[in-house]
Amino acid sequence: MPLPADGESAPAPPVTERDRAVLIARHLRNTERLTIPEIATRLGRSPSTVAGYFSDPNGERARRYKTKYRNSCERCGAPTATKPGVRLCRSCWRQTVTASEATCSDDQVSNRGTN
Ligand SMILES: [Zn+2]
Repeated sequence: MPLPADGESAPAPPVTERDRAVLIARHLRNTERLTIPEIATRLGRSPSTVAGYFSDPNGERARRYKTKYRNSCERCGAPTATKPGVRLCRSCWRQTVTASEATCSDDQVSNRGTN
């Protein structure tokens, strides 16, 4: 069975914990007239998360954002974090950091000092 194409004709996602939280948040706002910070306290979420429940109830905007910034690692092709400007996967990034620490000799330190 082929894997479903990315995005397009994918079936509706199952009801997630977020979907339930959106319903509860709406209920609290409509029936108890709670503010977003109050709802956040009730749900144990941050106010910005709860604000997202109202501005982006089905998570579509967040999904678009993730798709937009989904990149492949320049070195190994693995998916990177979904943030703008991220070019290496976590694993390759760690290797880079480790390598630069390993080659950080006294020479480089003194070169840096001349800047
Ligand atoms: Zn990589």
